[in-house]
Amino acid sequence: MNSKPNTLNKKLKILLIEDDTGDAHLIRKMLIESKSAYFELEHFDRLSTGLEQLAQMEIDLILLDLNLPDSQGLDTIVKAHAKAQIIPVIVLTGLEDENLAIKSISKGAQDYLVKGQIDSGLLIRAIHYAVERHRLRSKLKKANQKILEQQKELIDEERLKVLLQMAGATAHELNQPLMVLLGNIELIGMYKSDPEKLSDCVAAIEDAGNRISDIVKKIETIRNYQTKAYPDGSEIISIDQDLNILSIEDDKMYFSILKKMLSNLGMTEVSQAMNIKEAKTLLTNNTYALALLEYKLPDGDAFDLLRFMKGEDIQVPVVVLTGQGNEAIASKAIQTGAYDYLSKENINESSLSRSINTTLERFRLNREIKMAMKKMAEMSTTDELTGLYNRRYFTEALEREIARAKRYGTSLVMCMMDLDYFKRVNDAYGHTAGDMVLAEIGKILKDCIRKSDLACRYGGEEFAVILPDTDVKKAKTVCERFRKIVAGHPFKHNLSQFNITISMGITSYNSLMDQSPIEIMELADKALYQAKEAGRNQLVEYTPSI
Ligand code: GH3
Ligand code: MG
Ligand code: MG
Repeated sequence: MNSKPNTLNKKLKILLIEDDTGDAHLIRKMLIESKSAYFELEHFDRLSTGLEQLAQMEIDLILLDLNLPDSQGLDTIVKAHAKAQIIPVIVLTGLEDENLAIKSISKGAQDYLVKGQIDSGLLIRAIHYAVERHRLRSKLKKANQKILEQQKELIDEERLKVLLQMAGATAHELNQPLMVLLGNIELIGMYKSDPEKLSDCVAAIEDAGNRISDIVKKIETIRNYQTKAYPDGSEIISIDQDLNILSIEDDKMYFSILKKMLSNLGMTEVSQAMNIKEAKTLLTNNTYALALLEYKLPDGDAFDLLRFMKGEDIQVPVVVLTGQGNEAIASKAIQTGAYDYLSKENINESSLSRSINTTLERFRLNREIKMAMKKMAEMSTTDELTGLYNRRYFTEALEREIARAKRYGTSLVMCMMDLDYFKRVNDAYGHTAGDMVLAEIGKILKDCIRKSDLACRYGGEEFAVILPDTDVKKAKTVCERFRKIVAGHPFKHNLSQFNITISMGITSYNSLMDQSPIEIMELADKALYQAKEAGRNQLVEYTPSI
C-alpha cells in the first residue's frame, strides 16, 4: 500500500537527553519493549552533546530532562527549542518540578511527562501525539501564512486610512493656536513702542506655544483610535482621549494604589467593581478600553468573568492581576482569553504602562485582522460599489435556486436589467456621478425586493434579480414598481439634477421546460433586448415563439 507516512507505521528516531542513567535505562526499556511501534533511540547525558546531534541526523522527537549537568530549569527548554525549532520536544521532570514543566509548554515544549509516573503506553502515546500535533501545527502555520499575506494588504489599507484621519485631526487641532501665534507675532511689529501691549502679545504667544506643545504631547501618546464627528460629516481621530479603565478589585487600599499609578500615567478615568457581579453589570452597560482584573474576588475568580465575557461577546481586553503563588494560573488565564497578566508583587508604573500599551496594541491588531477578514469575506460575495451580490456569487446562486425549483416543483423568475443611455450620464456629469447613480440604484433595488430574492450587479450597469418561489405575475408587479421608482427618482450631483430609466427582461423557470441556468439567462437577456428595441424604460416578458 502506498499511503502517506503516518506516525504509527513510520520508524521514529528519538533523541533522549537525560543524565540519570537509571531513568534513561527505563525509558529505553519502555520504548524498545513496545510492540505497537518501532523506535530508534539516541541517548546523551548533556544538553550540549545532545543538541550537537541535530546537525548529524534527522530526529523526529526529543525527550528532554530539564535538569542536566550543563543546563538547569526553563533555560534548558529555551536552549533546546531555539536549536531544534522544527522538532517537537517532550519534557521529562520529577514530581516536585511539575510547575516548571507546565511553564516549559509556553516556552515551546509540546508536552511533559513526570518521571516515576510514566508507563510504556503513556510514553508511546505522548510521543505519537506530539509528533502528530507538531505536523498539524506546521501545516496550519503554512495555511495561516497564506491568509496573512492576503490580509496584510487590507490591514495596510486600514492603517493608511487611520493615519490620514490622524493627520486631519492634528492639522485641525493645531490650526487655532498657530493662528494666535502668527497673529501676535505680527502685532509685536505694530506695538514696538507700547510696552503694555507688547507684554500682552508675549503672554498670548507663550500661551499658544504651550497649547501647541500640549497637542504634540497628546499626539505622541495616542493609544487608540477614538473618532469624533467633523463638521463636514466625516470622522477624524480624537486626540483628546483618556482611557476608560475598569478595575475589578475588592481591596480598597490596592485600588487606590492602582488608581494613583494610572493617574500618573495620564489615565484618570478609572471605575471600580468590587466583585464579579458588579463587573458583569458594568461591562454589559458601559464601554471600557481595558479591564484590570484581580484573580481572586469575593464571589468568584478571574476565569468566571473571562468566560462570561466570552459568552456575551464583550470585546474588552483584560489584564489579570495575580497575587504571589498564582503565577501558574496566569498562563491558564491567557488561554481563557486574558491578554496579559501582572504579578501584584512586581507591579509598578513602568510594568503597568508596558502591559497596558502592549495589550491595547494587540487588541487593536486583532480587531484589524477581524475587520480585514470580514471585508475579505464580503469582497468575495458582494460588489463593493452597490452592496449587491457580485456576478460570481450570483451565478452559483442561480444554479442552486434552479435545482431547488426543480426538486420542489416551484416556479422561479429571472429578471435582467440594464440602465438606459447610461453612457450619457458619464459623459455629461462624469464617472463619479455615474458611480453614485449605480450605488443609489443598488439601494433602491434592495429596498424593493424581498429578503429571499437575490439581486446582483451583473456587469457595469446591468443588474440581475432571481425571485425564487414567485410566479410571473407577482414578479412583474415587483419589477414594475422598481422601474417606476427609478424613473421618478431625482439623482443629484453637485448642482445638477437628472433622471434615468431602466429596461428589464424577465423569464420564468418551469419544471416542464426545465431550462438550464444558461438558457434562463439568455432568455431574460433576449427579453431585455426587446425592451430596449421597443423604446426602453419598460419591462418585457420573454415569450417563446412556438
Ligand atoms: P443602453 O440604453 O443601450 O443600455 O445605453 P447605455 O449607454 O446604457 O449602454 P452602453 O452599454 O453603451 O454603455 C454603458 C456605459 O456604462 C459604458 C460605461 O462607461 C458605463 N459604465 C459601466 N460600468 C460603469 C461603472 O462602474 N461606473 C460608471 N460610472 N460607469 C460605468
Ligand atoms: Mg449595458
Ligand atoms: Mg445601458
